[in-house]
Amino acid sequence: MNKFSWYEAKSVEDALGKVNATVSEILAKNGNQTSAIFKAGGVDLLDLMKEGLVRPGMVIGIKNIPGLDKIDYDAKTGLRIGANVSLSEMESNDRIRDQYQALFQAVSHAGTPQIRNSATLGGNLAQRTRCWYFRSIDHDCYRKGSGTCFAQEGENEFHAVMDNQPCASVHSSSVATALLAFNAKVEILSSDGKKREVKMEDFFVHPSKDSRTENILKANEMITAVTVPAAGENIKSYYIKQGARESHDWALADVAVVAEMSGTRCKKAEIALGAASPVPVKAKAAADSLAGKEINEASAVNAGEIAMKNATPLANNGYKVPLFKTIIKRAILKTV
Ligand SMILES: Cc1cc2nc3c(=O)[nH]c(=O)nc-3n(C[C@H](O)[C@H](O)[C@H](O)COP(=O)(O)OP(=O)(O)OC[C@H]3O[C@@H](n4cnc5c(N)ncnc54)[C@H](O)[C@@H]3O)c2cc1C
Repeated sequence: MNKFSWYEAKSVEDALGKVNATVSEILAKNGNQTSAIFKAGGVDLLDLMKEGLVRPGMVIGIKNIPGLDKIDYDAKTGLRIGANVSLSEMESNDRIRDQYQALFQAVSHAGTPQIRNSATLGGNLAQRTRCWYFRSIDHDCYRKGSGTCFAQEGENEFHAVMDNQPCASVHSSSVATALLAFNAKVEILSSDGKKREVKMEDFFVHPSKDSRTENILKANEMITAVTVPAAGENIKSYYIKQGARESHDWALADVAVVAEMSGTRCKKAEIALGAASPVPVKAKAAADSLAGKEINEASAVNAGEIAMKNATPLANNGYKVPLFKTIIKRAILKTV
């Protein structure tokens, strides 16, 4: 790891006055030593630094900025989760557990208790892919701007099975899968004082649009919160993550289903998939197939088939297609 200076930011404005880089920008400038970058929990940033991928000159500690660590709820506007709220604080929040079950399940299955104690929501959304070619300093891969995705012909068992050209990496946030199904928005503040709210589905950037960056954040911007619409009484949700093992691992496949129910009949639904594509995606046609239907084995199986209809698995990840079909079916059946 390189030597760097440490700056403990006192406020959002203070932090935004110092920051001048994102991970993608540092990668573009070969680990530029003049860059100053945010560290929240540090789980991902310090890994990237230890891996030698980023070598910032200054690390700006934002974890202790007052006001970014709150979870608020309003019956009209819904849930507002500050960017510095840790995954374990989300896990122990009664409202998230009772009204946003899929989000609770996603958070409580991320990493390990120790990781969840450090990891913040903002850092979780801005973390970089765990694709082993991206994480290897010896591979100048597509996500680093080279034009070559080594996973296409190489070791691709954990990689994307949909929209996997020109890069087959998957985004590592399983929390985003649940937030996407709940139609959450990301609140972003820029150093010029402008605030914008971006839909979760517009926050992540597919490699076909920009090879280097995985989200829309610019160097002078900070995630300040994530908002999730109010969940009415008839909203039922369920999240399933399948990893190679039960804990301490990222998802091989994960799914969140959020459904407005009337008894066993679904009025409308959202289905989001993680580790399927380079970005968390909605399975819109599959979700639409449930609208107005009884939730039962047949409708749940059918939705899984529709969700995977356009899958284009690579040589070693074909197993993910039946895996997705199964967890989609199971998550749908859990909404009744
Ligand atoms: C073994 C292991 C297993 C894991 N399993 C899972 C899993 O199953 N599911 C899952 O979702 N995650 C998983 N993770 C990832 C972990 O949850 C993330 O690394 C963590 O959430 C990152 O949060 P952080 O606060 O530590 O971010 P940091 O490492 O501090 O920051 C990450 C990035 O975000 C930027 N950043 C941080 N905060 C902000 C902000 N407010 N605004 C703008 N940019 C910001 C930083 O500059 C940096 O580039 C796992 C990690 C490990 C090590």
